[in-house]
Amino acid sequence: MWNNRPSQKGLLIVISGPSGTGKTSVVRALYEGDATLELSISATTRPPRSNETNGINYHFLDQTEFENLIQHGGFLEWVKYGGYYYGTLKSTVESTIANGKDLILEIDVHGAMKVKDLNIRCTSIFLLPPSLESLEKRLRNRRTESDSELQQRLLTAKSEFDYIADYEYCVKNPDNDVAGAVTQIRYIISAERCRIDDQLLATISQEFSTPQ
Ligand code: 5GP
Repeated sequence: MWNNRPSQKGLLIVISGPSGTGKTSVVRALYEGDATLELSISATTRPPRSNETNGINYHFLDQTEFENLIQHGGFLEWVKYGGYYYGTLKSTVESTIANGKDLILEIDVHGAMKVKDLNIRCTSIFLLPPSLESLEKRLRNRRTESDSELQQRLLTAKSEFDYIADYEYCVKNPDNDVAGAVTQIRYIISAERCRIDDQLLATISQEFSTPQ
């Protein structure tokens, strides 16, 4: 694909959606099919699930390590979710964007609002589950949480819908059609790469300036 932003900073793409929406599958498929995209690996104090690997799914830290990073300004944003810390490492964001690659942040709604408040250019996408019933079903079938954690996640998931209006785009993740959601998000990213902003204008005026 023609790169419209060759000498420019990469885009920040924030993807949120209630737990159980299938975000992780969508985001992984998106990232694996596009060499110009990077996926931000968050840090968390949540214990790893049996199918998760340190450094691939998350950087799994203990509470002291995480709190040290907070104190030293190591996070672009961080939140407490379900009793655990989660945060986006500032170093990852800065180096990826500076290298002109677009970076996906798969973060919760509160983290997304914090990024929005930073007033940096970012594209926000809210991923909707097929329905509330299917969201509950997916969370229950996953069996990765205790009963009380599951109840908490369900409550949190329902409250996250209140934030949709603060996002720029909304995409539905239909049951058994990850590819459909991925295609829609690709279109959004494609359009965002062509959006006129100061950086793009500067590149164009350099490329098309007439010699005096
Ligand atoms: P999980 O424990 O299911 O992996 O993630 C729980 C929630 O935390 C999900 O909504 C996920 O998107 C969000 N999350 C993961 N990493 C981060 C992060 O770095 N920052 C924020 N704010 N949320 C995150």
